[in-house]
Amino acid sequence: MLCGIITNSNQKVIARHVTKEQGPYHCAGCGHELIVKKGNIKVHHFAHKPPYNCSRGDGESEAHRKCKETIYFELMKQGNVTDLDIEKDFGTVVADIYCKIDGVPVAIEVQRSNLSVDQITRRTSEYFKLGVNVLWLALFDQKLNDGKYSPTAWMKWCHAAYFGRVFYWTEGLSVLPVHYGAYAIDVESTSWFDSDGNENSGGGYSKISKRYKTPSFGSKHNLVQDLKPAYKQPWSGGSVSIPECRLFVSKHKKWW
Ligand SMILES: [Zn+2]
Repeated sequence: MLCGIITNSNQKVIARHVTKEQGPYHCAGCGHELIVKKGNIKVHHFAHKPPYNCSRGDGESEAHRKCKETIYFELMKQGNVTDLDIEKDFGTVVADIYCKIDGVPVAIEVQRSNLSVDQITRRTSEYFKLGVNVLWLALFDQKLNDGKYSPTAWMKWCHAAYFGRVFYWTEGLSVLPVHYGAYAIDVESTSWFDSDGNENSGGGYSKISKRYKTPSFGSKHNLVQDLKPAYKQPWSGGSVSIPECRLFVSKHKKWW
C-alpha cells in the first residue's frame, strides 16, 4: 500500500512524501504497525510489520504500485479533477484512487495478482451503492503484442462490462482500450490409409479457440478526457455475470 497513518498525529501520508524518522506508522485498516519501504528504484510503499493479519496491500505488485502512484500524481495536475484521494476508505471498499472528473465521482481500481471474478463483482456492486462510477484497469502486458492472447477470467469480465473493451494502463494518464476478437485455430488437413487400404482424410478447417483471443488495439484514451459515466443494468451471458452498476466507459465508437 502507498499510504500509512503517522501514529503521533493520526495524519494519512503517502510513502513517497515521508521519511522513516517521521514514524511510527500504522495501517488505516487494522491499526497494525507499518514499515516504510524507500528504495532508489522501487515505488516507495508501506508494508505490515510481520506477523500480521490484514488483507490491505495484498496482491499489489511493483507494477500495481507504479500505476497507482503515477495516476494519482498526474491527476493532481488536472484542472477538471477535484476531491482526489488515494487508497480512499469507503468502509465497505477501499478505492485505489478516487476523484471527481468534471464533477463525476470515479473510483479507479488497478489490477492485482489475486483478483478474482467474485471480488471484482462484489466491489463493483459496492461502488454502485455508493453512487460511484468504477474504472477497472489492467496493467499493460507485452503478450498483447503477440497477436494471440489468453485473457484471465476477470479480464473477460471487464470485456463484457465495458462494452467489448479492456483498458490497459500504459503510462501517465494513458490507457489503451483493447478488444478481444475471435482467434481461429487451423486444423491441418491430413490423409491416411486404414487397415483395409482405404484412404481417409480429415482437418482442413479452422475452429474458434476458447482460450485464445486476437487482441485489437483502439486509440489511447486519456483518463480525464475520453471516458464518461454509464449506468449498466444487470447482464449475464455465457459464464459472465455483471451486476447492476455504474461504470466509467469510453466516449468513443467501437473500432472493430
Ligand atoms: Zn492492515
